[in-house]
Amino acid sequence: MAKSIEVVLLPNGFALPSGEIWEYALLSLISQKKDKDQLTYKHKNQNGPNLTILFDGDDAGQRDYLNRASKHLTGDNDWHFIRWQLVSAIAITCLVFLFYMGYPLVNRAIVAIIPDNWAIRAGDLVVDSLYQQYTSDTCENPQGNAALEKVTAALKIEDLPYPVRVEVVDNPMVNALAAPGGRVVIFNGLLQQADTPEEIAGVLSHEIGHVYYQHPMQGLVNVMGFSIIGSFLGGDAASIAIVGLSLSYSREYERDADDLALVILKNNNISAEGMLDFFERHEKIKEENAIAEIADMFSTHPLTKDRIKLFRDHIKNKEVELKKGQLLDKREWQNLVNICNKEDVGS
Ligand SMILES: [Zn+2]
Repeated sequence: MAKSIEVVLLPNGFALPSGEIWEYALLSLISQKKDKDQLTYKHKNQNGPNLTILFDGDDAGQRDYLNRASKHLTGDNDWHFIRWQLVSAIAITCLVFLFYMGYPLVNRAIVAIIPDNWAIRAGDLVVDSLYQQYTSDTCENPQGNAALEKVTAALKIEDLPYPVRVEVVDNPMVNALAAPGGRVVIFNGLLQQADTPEEIAGVLSHEIGHVYYQHPMQGLVNVMGFSIIGSFLGGDAASIAIVGLSLSYSREYERDADDLALVILKNNNISAEGMLDFFERHEKIKEENAIAEIADMFSTHPLTKDRIKLFRDHIKNKEVELKKGQLLDKREWQNLVNICNKEDVGS
């Protein structure tokens, strides 16, 4: 026998006259009639009577209230509702997508609007602070410069955003880096570990890959965001120099630079064997000097095995008809290796 009671709709459940509360979460809708003017619930934890809510025509607000409390209370899974769910799901997906994808896109847009002379200035700031940090100088002498220019000129590639300017810093680290605006620095330690000009050409072509994709500027913007514009305008050189020197690239950037390096080498008839030799040898040295601190370009490449495989596959598959030329003759090579030596310069 049905008994008529009046219930109060609370945020968490129906309050019965007895004071008992039927929590929404514990109710299941077992029937609905007359276009939802009548809803019958069963309490999941009680075997007692079901609760039938009767709405009169003016109670649409209460039904909405129930629906908002939990949609299972009104069975309002109609198309209207699903459509809104769908729309909001798509909107959320788009927001998440924009968050992950949009961030790099925005950063790339910032890089694209930065004038070339700003990028070149940023590169100068970074390299200047590098010289300050290591209290060292650019190595130069006419013969060494000529040899370095010859290797650089041999690595032709079109559509570079800026001309590449390569220099050697008098520092024993086995390292090389690309600064914004096309400035590339080779550390003397790397020169001393190289056996052939082709090895240097391999390392250089990787750095030119970073220049091509504007990775140094991209790296600065990834860290500094829009504030980099303010740094340029306000002449805040320090932050650009600090960030620029501490950049490390993602694997994706490194892989892009490697891929382009292989294209540059191949297009200029230079084998990637030099690059492969250098990396393999360096990997061995690193293992032998596990305790010694070798901060270098190779520590930013955690997947050296993958890189070595990439180079090996390239040599095996793409260099079948490569017409290798001589990059530097013996004397030129000696001049390059000795570019930091104040005495003992070949002529
Ligand atoms: Zn790199």
